[in-house]
Amino acid sequence: MIHAKWLLLTFFLFPFLAQAQLQPCATPPVKSKWLTLYQRHPEHYAQPEEDTILYIPLTIHLLGNDDGTSHYPIDRLLTSLCQLNADFAQANIQFFLESPIDYIDNTAYNHHSTVVEGAQMMFENDVENTLNCYFVDDAADACGYNLPYASIALNESCTGQSHTWAHEVGHDFTLPHPFLGWEGTEYMAGDTAPVKLTYDYTYFQDTLILDTLIIDTAFTELVDGSNCEIAADGFCDTPPDYLSDRWPCTADNTNGFTEVDPTGATFQTSGELFMSYSYDDCQSKFSPQQIAAMRSYILDEKPNYLYNQTPYPQLSDQQTPLLSPAYEAITDKTHTQLVWASAGTPATYHLVVSKSFTMAYPFVDTLITDTTFLLTDLEKHNYYWQVQPFNKYSFCSPLSKRGKFTADEMVAIFEQAGERWQVGPTFVQQGTSLHLTGQHPLSSDADLSLVSVSGQVVQTQQLRAGSLDYELFLSEKCQRGLYYLVLHIKGHPVLRQKVMVY
Ligand SMILES: [Zn+2]
Repeated sequence: MIHAKWLLLTFFLFPFLAQAQLQPCATPPVKSKWLTLYQRHPEHYAQPEEDTILYIPLTIHLLGNDDGTSHYPIDRLLTSLCQLNADFAQANIQFFLESPIDYIDNTAYNHHSTVVEGAQMMFENDVENTLNCYFVDDAADACGYNLPYASIALNESCTGQSHTWAHEVGHDFTLPHPFLGWEGTEYMAGDTAPVKLTYDYTYFQDTLILDTLIIDTAFTELVDGSNCEIAADGFCDTPPDYLSDRWPCTADNTNGFTEVDPTGATFQTSGELFMSYSYDDCQSKFSPQQIAAMRSYILDEKPNYLYNQTPYPQLSDQQTPLLSPAYEAITDKTHTQLVWASAGTPATYHLVVSKSFTMAYPFVDTLITDTTFLLTDLEKHNYYWQVQPFNKYSFCSPLSKRGKFTADEMVAIFEQAGERWQVGPTFVQQGTSLHLTGQHPLSSDADLSLVSVSGQVVQTQQLRAGSLDYELFLSEKCQRGLYYLVLHIKGHPVLRQKVMVY
């Protein structure tokens, strides 16, 4: 099957969809054979129980360039996944990550200007029995598209807190645009619409056909609803809509100008449907008939998606606490261990460490299942870090607060029961702090003292066992000069370190 498609692609490749501006969705008009039959007799089709949530497995492909750059960032992917599940909650359909996130380095696919190239990318990389979604820099000059015989491509700039993904998944679950037939035809305000429209859906049949132009006709939907079952998208609860360019909505969520149906009846289009081309902030729903059709379609045509219907417990919507190092702690640039609180259920953590307060140009940007991460190759610099947990089913946990530490030389080292402890910095500014940092909690109480060169104890702090990071704040008594920092455990000095206060 793959080979046949490849032959077609090799021999019949030709330019397609020459669109000047970024279109909202390059999925041209199509009404699947399944939907045509379904709409004649929806009562003949099985429906899942109304309160049954259908869990759909996703494979996410993040396209980058050949040099490994320009992949869609994980925090934005999580925002998009959280939004997708929010948009489909009303339909009792939820999505989970079946496969690990698939990183693909391929500049040509990342910036593909035709749907045919996109199809090639999908034939090469689609994972069976999952809904495959590709995040790219250029998706055939559109915000996204869905190929009925393959999968979904999304332009990264149209995702996040937007409904583009829900729109394309709606297509994948057999929904046409409510303005079916008008794609590529501009409706002029006040014009009386024709009774029928012709449209080209050559590339959006059930299989990819490259050597035949396929033209069909659609009836224009009337305001009185008399032809709603056969006109446009065939749903009677999606009112007439002739608007095939992206459009902003008014305060009452309509297009704000008059449309005229073939009988002369006038109307305006509501912006609420995800399958329309209204702006994102107008959209909020699928119609009940659209939802019923999607649920029947999944049961009837995509039962292979429904093999795992047992979700994990949802992760907390609270920020993950950062445990160590303490905020603004001084740490060892050759040994700084980041520790954060476990989410309590199976989770992957997205960890980002950056020298920049804005978290730009991350020094570390990684996914791990552990709750600690060791940094051994830092510069003498401020660092910021954040953690965000997610799991196969749960994408809405917020980013943690931003942690901050300063990597520095930490020359004072002592061993306690085989554990390495470090004290720093050794050149310390008046009115700031010294830090004692370990890999494991201190196993017994201790005293940390600052002693002048003449032997006078300037200040002492008791350290309670059980922590990884202790701070000694230099009191006013601690004038500029040279001191010894002395650590006593059970009365025995275990560390003596020269410290210069300046
Ligand atoms: Zn569309």
